Amino acid sequence: MTWQSPIAPGVSWYQDSLDARREYAAMDGSRTVDVAIIGGGFTGLQAAFNLAKAGVSVVLIEGYRFGDGASGRNGGQFGTGQRAWPDDLEKEVGFERSKALFDIAEHAKHYVLDFAREHAIDMDFLPGQLNVLHKASYEKDYRKSVEAMSSRYGYNQVSFMEKAETAERLGSSHYHFGVRDTGTGHIHPLKLVIGLAKAAQAAGAQIFEMTPAKSITQTGGKTLIETSSGTITANRVLIATNAHIGNLEQVTAAHVMPIRSFIGATVPLDAFPTIIPGKEAVADSRFVVRYFRKTPDNRLLFGGREAYTADSPRDISKHIRKQIAEIYPALQNIEMTHAWGGSVGITLTRQPFVREVMPGVMSIGGYSGHGVMLANYCGKLYADMIISKDKALEQFAALDVPSFPGGTRLRAPLLFLALSWYALRDRF
Ligand SMILES: Cc1cc2nc3c(=O)[nH]c(=O)nc-3n(C[C@H](O)[C@H](O)[C@H](O)COP(=O)(O)OP(=O)(O)OC[C@H]3O[C@@H](n4cnc5c(N)ncnc54)[C@H](O)[C@@H]3O)c2cc1C
Repeated sequence: MTWQSPIAPGVSWYQDSLDARREYAAMDGSRTVDVAIIGGGFTGLQAAFNLAKAGVSVVLIEGYRFGDGASGRNGGQFGTGQRAWPDDLEKEVGFERSKALFDIAEHAKHYVLDFAREHAIDMDFLPGQLNVLHKASYEKDYRKSVEAMSSRYGYNQVSFMEKAETAERLGSSHYHFGVRDTGTGHIHPLKLVIGLAKAAQAAGAQIFEMTPAKSITQTGGKTLIETSSGTITANRVLIATNAHIGNLEQVTAAHVMPIRSFIGATVPLDAFPTIIPGKEAVADSRFVVRYFRKTPDNRLLFGGREAYTADSPRDISKHIRKQIAEIYPALQNIEMTHAWGGSVGITLTRQPFVREVMPGVMSIGGYSGHGVMLANYCGKLYADMIISKDKALEQFAALDVPSFPGGTRLRAPLLFLALSWYALRDRF
């Protein structure tokens, strides 16, 4: 039977495009380990893999199935750098730190590609990304960012696209200009999750599905994680629950909030060869980003998030098809085969949240829609920090990510209001 994640609506095309997915057992009794990890997405699984490979005893528990959070259901786009353009980030943290963060993201990109190659994970990588401008007034800023990336950040794979080139590469004249990035690409994220879980277990990590953590407490220098099938006693803990922290740990919950994002998949578009003929990933300049790409079998995967709450795949399809038709009017009646949603973990500054929240307990998440490569790499950097006292993760920990205002009860409504306002602003 097709698995339906209890924490997100709809069955993804990713899941349906695969043969039966291997299941992992739930934890069966208490354990004592060096490192315990809560959350089986990219962050947690990469940390488990790298720690186990270095001989550290590690147990990872996932509340449902690996990839059920954002990692197995996302848009699959790598991007380049951090979520903000490097010259914008520079205004906040200065050139040196912005450059260091840019370089880390480049390492992240190469790390994920090398990891997949080494472990023979065929994750359907397709090269290229187009960042397209929905407002002509953004032209000057984007030109400046492209120039800064090549002249000051040493990244020469980006070029500014005039209106004609943008229209040709998209197969639509909906956008004004664009930026073409040939140094990045997009993947089938669930294939990466599955390969990663297999690699982590083969390296010696004890990894369990269907084992939610119920509480985290500390006593005698140890951290105890209570689950329904036993207690994990650990010297160190990684909280890698991202948007799904709930009430498990309050500091993370105050800094990482869930917002919904929805994706729809069309039937294969063989009859529409002019739509993204180069098969690059596309992301637009709206605050409520629209992101889309073609799969190897020519479907359009189209994602957008809105202030609406749609829970049934039929409602999601309706909204997504409307957005598709604004860009590709010829697809206004296109059949949607899949529609699903997920929770993106965001922070107030849209920078990752990396913090020691209790002695020996690190929380990592909140990549704000930019975690396909960064979550994988942050998981690895967490392991490096433990294995060899590597300091790269400190670049993220040093970022000033404040908590969301409003306290436990007001945070979600305030965020909803803010997002609604930005969604409205995108339209004018
Ligand atoms: C629809 C959508 C589209 C996106 N598109 C892109 C994109 O194109 N490019 C990009 O870079 N990023 C994108 N993202 C973001 C990206 O997917 C995430 O940043 C990344 O996957 C985060 O990985 P993670 O391991 O930190 O968290 P997750 O993958 O969310 O994993 C957290 C896990 O923790 C588990 N968990 C939670 N609480 C408990 C508990 N108490 N006990 C045990 N387990 C628990 C959850 O079940 C979940 O599996 C998108 C996200 C979504 C939802």
